[in-house]
Amino acid sequence: MDLSMLNPKQLEAVNVLEGPLLILAGAGSGKTRTLTCRIANLLEHGIPAWSILALTFTNKAAREMQTRIEQLVGQDKAADMWIGTFHSVCVRILRRDIEKLGYSRSFTIFDEDDQLRVLKDVLKKFDIDEKYLPPKEVRREISSAKSRLLNADEWFAESDKSRRSQQLHDVFFAYDKTLAEYSALDFDDLLNKTIQLFLDHPPVLEYYQRKFRHCLVDEYQDTNYVQYEFVRLLTDVSHNLCVVGDDDQSIYGWRGADIRNILEFEKDFENVRVIKLEQNYRSTANILDAANQVIAHNRGRKEKALWTDGPAGEKIQLYTAGDERDEGAWICERVRQLNRSGVPYSEMAVLYRSHPQSRVIEEMFVRAGLPYRVFGGPRFYERKEIKDALAYLRVIVNPADTVSLKRIINTPKRSIGDATVARLEDEAARQEIPLFSVLPDPPESLSARARRCVSGFAELMFRLIAAQDTMNLTDYVAFILKETALDQQLDNEDAEFYQARLDNLRELVSAVHEYETKSEDHSLNGYLENVSLITDLDRQEDAPQYVTLMTLHAAKGLEYDAVFLPGMEENVFPNYRAVMEDNRLEEERRLAYVGITRAKKYLFLSCARQRTFYNQVNYNAPSVFLSEIPERLINDTGKSARQHFGDDPVRRSAARPQRPLDFGVPGTGQKRDPLTIPGVSKGFVPSAARALSGSALMNMYKPGDRVMHRKFGEGTVEKVWGKGGEARISISFTAYGTKEFSLSIAPIFKIDT
Ligand code: ATP
Ligand code: MG
Repeated sequence: MDLSMLNPKQLEAVNVLEGPLLILAGAGSGKTRTLTCRIANLLEHGIPAWSILALTFTNKAAREMQTRIEQLVGQDKAADMWIGTFHSVCVRILRRDIEKLGYSRSFTIFDEDDQLRVLKDVLKKFDIDEKYLPPKEVRREISSAKSRLLNADEWFAESDKSRRSQQLHDVFFAYDKTLAEYSALDFDDLLNKTIQLFLDHPPVLEYYQRKFRHCLVDEYQDTNYVQYEFVRLLTDVSHNLCVVGDDDQSIYGWRGADIRNILEFEKDFENVRVIKLEQNYRSTANILDAANQVIAHNRGRKEKALWTDGPAGEKIQLYTAGDERDEGAWICERVRQLNRSGVPYSEMAVLYRSHPQSRVIEEMFVRAGLPYRVFGGPRFYERKEIKDALAYLRVIVNPADTVSLKRIINTPKRSIGDATVARLEDEAARQEIPLFSVLPDPPESLSARARRCVSGFAELMFRLIAAQDTMNLTDYVAFILKETALDQQLDNEDAEFYQARLDNLRELVSAVHEYETKSEDHSLNGYLENVSLITDLDRQEDAPQYVTLMTLHAAKGLEYDAVFLPGMEENVFPNYRAVMEDNRLEEERRLAYVGITRAKKYLFLSCARQRTFYNQVNYNAPSVFLSEIPERLINDTGKSARQHFGDDPVRRSAARPQRPLDFGVPGTGQKRDPLTIPGVSKGFVPSAARALSGSALMNMYKPGDRVMHRKFGEGTVEKVWGKGGEARISISFTAYGTKEFSLSIAPIFKIDT
C-alpha cells in the first residue's frame, strides 16, 4: 500500500492493528480514507479478508467504500469482506438463521406503506379512531421504541400509563403479532431481530464473534442504540472495533441516533486509542472557515480545530431572491456559468433542507435544459403500479404475506369486494391459517359468484407459482405482468397517467433485468430483498454527467466542487420546528455544517424574500446561520442583501398581501429608477454586474445581452424597440418565459456572464 497518501495522524490510525480505536475528526479530514486504508493494512498484516466487517449508512456509501477497497486490495479480496449497511448485513445474518426465531427464511421486508396498512387494519379491529391515534404517529412511536430495543410491554412499562398509552400498547402489540403472522419484518426489526437472535441463540453470536475479527464503522456519530448494541456484541470477544465519526455531523437524532455513542466511546470500551485528524483536505480555507464559525455556536460538542493549508479560494456567494422561482433560476445560471468555466455537472450539488423544496428547483432545471437528478422524492418503488406488481412477487415468495395479498386480491379488479375479503379473513382466523390458504377452497357462506372469483384468483396464483422455475427472472416478471393483466387495468385510467404508468411497469422489467445481469443471486427473493434495501440515495443509478439534487441528510460523506444551499431562511433552514427548540437548533446547525463542508471550491447560499410553501406565501427572515458566517467570507451580494433584509417593510408585517414587491411590470404605473430599487443594489452580482440607467443608456441593450430583473431574475434580451419613453424590451427568463417591459421603468441591470 502506498503510505505516502496519508498524513502522520492518518498513518498512526492505519497502523493501530488491534483494540478499540476511535477516529474522531471534522469533515473532510480523511476519515473514510483512513478507514479504507486501515482495512488494506490489516490484510497486509495477514488478517484474512473474510474476517472483516465494514459498516456504513447508505448503500451508496457502502458501494463507494467497496470500490475504494477494491482499488487498494483487488476485487477478489474485497468480495470476501462483508461491506454494507447495518440493514443489509442484518438481512444477510437473518436469512441464514431467522428460522430459529420462528420466521420463514423468505421473510418479507415491510416498508412504511406496508406498515401503515397493517396499522390501519389493527386500529379498525380495536375500533380506535384514526384521528385519535393517527397511523403515522403510531408508526413513529413504534419505531422510536424499537430503536431503543423495546417491545410493546417494555415500552408500556416506561410510559405514563395513560389511557392513550394503553391503547398504543395494544396496537403496538397487535402490530408485531400481525407482522409475525405474515412472516414480515419492518426496518427496525431487521436490527432488533438480529440482536434477539444473538441473545437467544448464543452459538449464532459466537459464530459471528469468531468470524468477524475486525469490525469497522464509518459515520459512527449517527448510530442509534440498537446499532451500538449490534457492534458491541459482535466485538465483545475480539475488542477490535474501529469507529470513525464526527460529533459535529450527527444529524439523525430525530430518528433515534444517539450522539452519546461517539461522545462516550471511551467510557464504553476499555483501553481505547483516540486519534484526532485536524487537517482538512476537501474545502478551500474560506469554506472551511465558514463551517468552523457556524459550528462554533453549538455548545454540546468536542472542541476541534480544523485547518487547511490549501488556498483561500473564492468567497461564498449569497443571493437574495425575490421568490423561490427566482432562486431556482439563479442557481441554474450559476450552474451554467460554472460549467462553462470547466466544472463538470457531476461536481455540482443542490442540497436542500426538505424534499418539497426540490419541486421548483427541478422545474427550473427543466426549463433551463440542464441535466440533473433528484435523489429521493417520488420514488420509483413507491408508485402504485410498481407496488402492485411487487406485491404479486412478494406473495409468490411468501404466501403468508397477507398485506401484499390483500393489496392484489382485487387488483386488477376481479369482483372480490371488501365484504368477501372480510369473510375470507374470518375464515382464516377461525381455522388459524393464513388468508392465502383459504383461497383454493372458499367458504360455502360466500355467494357462488364470489366463490368463483376467489377460486379464479387462486388458480391464477398457483399458475404463476408453478411457472417460477421454468424461465429466467426477467421473463418471469414480464410473464406475471401479462398473466395478471396489470397493464390492461391501466387502460381504464386517465390517458395522461396511463402512458407514464405503463412506462413504469416496463421500467420494472428493465430493473429486474439489470439486477439479474449484475448480481449473483438470481432468485426472486434476492431481487425483492434488493428492492427493499434500496434507500433514497440509491434510487438513481450513477450516470456521470448531471447535477445532483438531494436533501442535506442524504449528502453525508459526499463531496462536490460546487455546492448550493438554497432556502437559507428561518423556518426553512433551520426548519420551523427547530426554531422553537434549542437542542433541535443544534442539530440543524450540524446539518448546516454538513452542508457547507460538502463543498470543495464553491459555495452558494440563497434565500428568498417570499416563498410559497405548502400553498402558503411566507415571508421568512434570513437564516440565523447566515449571520454566523463572518461577512469577510461572503461576497458583497450577500452583504447588501442582508442589509436590505433588515429594513424590508415586507418583513415587518407578515400580513401584507401577496406580491408586494411587484415592480416594474407594465401597466402598474410604478416608476422607479433602476438604480435605487430596493433589494437590488449595484453590487447585486458584484464584480460582474454593471448597472445601466437613463435613456442615454437604453440603446445599449441588444438581443443576446444577459440582464438581471428585480422580480424575474436573470434573463436574456430578445428584442428592443421603440424610442424614448415608449421604448420597450422583451426578455426571456429561465424561470418565467418571455416577458415584455417598458424600458424606462423596467428594474433591470445588464450583467456580464
Ligand atoms: P466526511 O466527514 O465528510 O465524511 P471524511 O473525513 O470521511 O469526510 P474523506 O472523504 O475521507 O473525509 O476525505 C476528504 C477528501 O480529502 C477526499 O477527497 C480525500 O481523497 C482527501 N484526502 C484525505 N486524506 C488526504 C491526504 N492525506 N492527502 C490528500 N488528500 C486527502
Ligand atoms: Mg467520510
